[in-house]
Amino acid sequence: MYFIQENCGVFGLCSQYDCAGEIYQGIDFLQHRGQQYCGISTYDGSINHETHRGRVANSFPDEELKTLRGRWGIGHVSLRDRQPLRWLTQIGEIAVAFSGNVINSHELIREMMGRGKSFLEGTDVEIISKIIIEGSSLAGGIADLAGKIRGAYSLVVLSKDGVYATRDVYGFRPLIMGHDAMGTRYAVSSESRALENLEMEIYRDVEPGEIVLINDEGFRTLFRLDSPRKAHCAFEWAYTASMDSIIDGVYVQEARDNLGESLAQRDIDEGGLVADIVAPVPMSGMGHALGYHKRSRVNYQEVFLYNRYADRSYTQATQKDRDKMAKRKLSILPYVKGKRIVLCDDSIVRGTQIGYKVMDLKKAGAREVHVRVACPPLMYPCEFGVSTRSYGELMARAYLRAGDIISLDQLRPLESWVAERIGADSVKFNTIDDFVASLMTERANLCLACFDGISPYSAGI
Ligand code: SF4
Repeated sequence: MYFIQENCGVFGLCSQYDCAGEIYQGIDFLQHRGQQYCGISTYDGSINHETHRGRVANSFPDEELKTLRGRWGIGHVSLRDRQPLRWLTQIGEIAVAFSGNVINSHELIREMMGRGKSFLEGTDVEIISKIIIEGSSLAGGIADLAGKIRGAYSLVVLSKDGVYATRDVYGFRPLIMGHDAMGTRYAVSSESRALENLEMEIYRDVEPGEIVLINDEGFRTLFRLDSPRKAHCAFEWAYTASMDSIIDGVYVQEARDNLGESLAQRDIDEGGLVADIVAPVPMSGMGHALGYHKRSRVNYQEVFLYNRYADRSYTQATQKDRDKMAKRKLSILPYVKGKRIVLCDDSIVRGTQIGYKVMDLKKAGAREVHVRVACPPLMYPCEFGVSTRSYGELMARAYLRAGDIISLDQLRPLESWVAERIGADSVKFNTIDDFVASLMTERANLCLACFDGISPYSAGI
């Protein structure tokens, strides 16, 4: 599924050795969180800094990494802007990178301009940087964000003191710390996979509202700001995060397994579904399909081959071209002829892509295609840093209205309607209750706003 994308991933490292090479690897392991821009800043008395348009692996030649000298640094991958941003401030040079979204950016810009501040482009990272720089100290400025920013941020700030790392008081976006066994490298990352692939042990998640300083002495908590409630993005486990990561204490793979099992259980409870194979829409449908297979005992078989060399869909200018390119990323494995297929995907946004998949499978001779969707229907765009498109593009919104409670009774007619539109023999989504149970996290600690429309800002404060 291609049209939901995380906006950013952040990485920070304090090492006994030059760190640019490992920051490069760290953000490469976060590439799935943003493919449009990438950047690295390091500190060796002043800030060395490079950002590029494009993917990490194609963007930083060895000669350039050698110029990024220093033992401390931060890196960033993004879907929407170049980060880190470098600033010359009253307390020396700093570089700032974040993952998330500032909802009240217009108000903040207006208020700061009223006080004589100016902005280059008024991006979220620029606003965040200016609030930090206005603080009594770096840590004080970072703490001030909590009272001013409405939205989500996981943040790294590089300075002469080391790397500061923090998460907004709700903990929307993930941020986790790790170190090597010798105590020579301390790091923070949007996802654990970057730490583990750099042979570090997981230490723990940065808590919502916690401000940590990382340097040669390791991790030091400077502040723990009051958190009104946790609101971890539920979508991380279903789609955004890589399957080899652990997010806020829950293995992504286990959560996806549960989501697939829950879909299979519903089929069993509703009389059983006769199918020959269960297959994923690559890549994010894989964990869900394996879970479905585990519970249903229906054989697992790939039906699409992922073309890793196809261009990225964002480089195409029109939606039609992007759809075409997305289609070219997957080719059919023709051993589907005559088969009754359960096809697992993470979510349905507009329905265009899953419709193509169903059509392709039927053209290749599949007898039946039953679509099973891990997430409940997407009903609201995300305000917290995940591009889930506008109301008009969300397929379920053409059928259900805002405020509709998505119970099983309401899901069934929606599912028949979606099945008809995408040409599938049947469609089933997880209910919100089953979705939450699969994530093994208390509902009160999750953001589910794109499914139920309830902003964590209005719930439980
Ligand atoms: S609205 Fe949805 S995508 Fe956005 S943070 Fe909440 S759960 Fe995640």
